[in-house]
Amino acid sequence: MWNNVEAAPADPILGLTEAFKSDSRADKVNLGVGVYQDKEGCTPVLDAVKQAEKILLENETTKSYMPISGATAYAAEVQKMIFGVESNRAATVHTPGGTGALRLAGELFKDFSSKTVWVSNPTWANHKNIFAAAGLSIKEYPYYCPATKALDEEAFFAALETVPAGDCVLLHVCCHNPTGVDLSVDQWNRVAKLAVDKGWTALLDFAYQGFSVSIEADRAGAEAFLASGADFMVASSFSKNFGLYRERTGALTVVGTNTDAAAVAMSHMKRNARVLWSNPPAHGGQIVTTILQNRELSQLWVSELGAMHDRIAQTRAALADGLAERGVAMDCSFMTAQKGMFSFSGLTKEQVHFLKEEKAIYIVDSGRINVAGLTSGNLDRVCNAVAEAMS
Ligand code: PLP
Repeated sequence: MWNNVEAAPADPILGLTEAFKSDSRADKVNLGVGVYQDKEGCTPVLDAVKQAEKILLENETTKSYMPISGATAYAAEVQKMIFGVESNRAATVHTPGGTGALRLAGELFKDFSSKTVWVSNPTWANHKNIFAAAGLSIKEYPYYCPATKALDEEAFFAALETVPAGDCVLLHVCCHNPTGVDLSVDQWNRVAKLAVDKGWTALLDFAYQGFSVSIEADRAGAEAFLASGADFMVASSFSKNFGLYRERTGALTVVGTNTDAAAVAMSHMKRNARVLWSNPPAHGGQIVTTILQNRELSQLWVSELGAMHDRIAQTRAALADGLAERGVAMDCSFMTAQKGMFSFSGLTKEQVHFLKEEKAIYIVDSGRINVAGLTSGNLDRVCNAVAEAMS
């Protein structure tokens, strides 16, 4: 079967990690993959997660299948997390990670929309692959202005005005990947109103709740859409904010006009989930539910999430200062304005190549730096190397 088949290209981000692993240089640094690392360069299991796992270990009574849609308690916690309240217009299905949620949304779009989805330029590379695999055509709307390193507000809103009714629009709720450029509350209200007026359906990708400002403040986009009365969807991922990457813990929440509409949406989510993965992996969802239902564990989790957030903010500032001290020509203040784990550094493909080949510093081709990959042990070296690349 395979003799005449060309090998598929490696995933641009995970492939970079493979290359990093096989690099024998002792001082190599991986700023590619979007995984949080602490100041020792580790991606730890959160204490709140460890404690929840202990509770689960003692109380778990079965490994039988989960319901197709996951546990109802998990769905309730997901809605409270993304909206602050449960909604009787919403139906939530537990999915394997945010990726599973996006794919499930893609299936719904394929069946019930114009089959066209608009994504920001740029966006997380996997978005296009996921939606293409679901049979959708993909269009781009302008988002980031390289000159100002901020939202290209005029072009963004002008494009959303032209999206035909029945199309879908993917929006990053916070910590836009890869640019770190987010919408303000006013801009979210404008976007939600446009969705209602123009009749397109938003899919809100919520993979970094708590990494921009806080769990509550980061919900602005989801709240604006809920208040607008629009039909929309939210793809949640708990990979980053609970550190549950490999547990594949996510959810798709569909919001319709009323409870009946939500029930119809649920029936189609279940039909599709049954085909895609049959029923979700239990462990991650049980951890999230255990933490969110327990006051002490919730408080612990919020403080651990806050510590991750703070370390990233401090590291952003240290990177911007370090580059400024080395006299790089670029004004690096935008790095501290960007939100989340990533800094869209402005490095060109050639500079990224130089850093990898000459300095063993791994960054994705777009110039997106995972700020959390910086530690006190490698920051100076990275600043020196980036300054040299930019000179
Ligand atoms: N959406 C965005 C913007 C992401 O950056 C990611 C992961 O990096 C995901 C979704 C998918 O998350 P998960 O690992 O839970 O599938």
